[in-house]
Amino acid sequence: MQCPRCHTDLIVVEYHDIELDYCPACEGLWFDHGEMELVASKMGSSADAVAPQQSADTNEKKLKCPECHKVMDKRLLGATDPVVADVCRLCGGLWLDHGELEQIVRQHQEPGDSPVIEYLRDTFRA
Ligand SMILES: [Zn+2]
Ligand SMILES: [Zn+2]
Repeated sequence: MQCPRCHTDLIVVEYHDIELDYCPACEGLWFDHGEMELVASKMGSSADAVAPQQSADTNEKKLKCPECHKVMDKRLLGATDPVVADVCRLCGGLWLDHGELEQIVRQHQEPGDSPVIEYLRDTFRA
């Protein structure tokens, strides 16, 4: 599977037994349908907090789903400080660019408490 952003081959990384596809070049992350909710629950966050919301009004380049090769939707993700995620209407997969997962997670943690972010940094940049 190739990165929808830069077409580098994605590598599989494990986060608490959840297999995610990670781009070693641009550091984006691909979540299969339902995986985002699993990751959120492992992080002590609710599934609601990471459910894709309304369409994002953005001029960002549209990306193609690495699974179905269809153009994905731009959707807002996250409650208070949403990021623009690419969501596939066909397979329900979801792409987050570098730093976007951290931005979502940070909203649901106490200030100064960043074990998840450190975990991601250690694991995904090893
Ligand atoms: Zn990439
Ligand atoms: Zn898809």
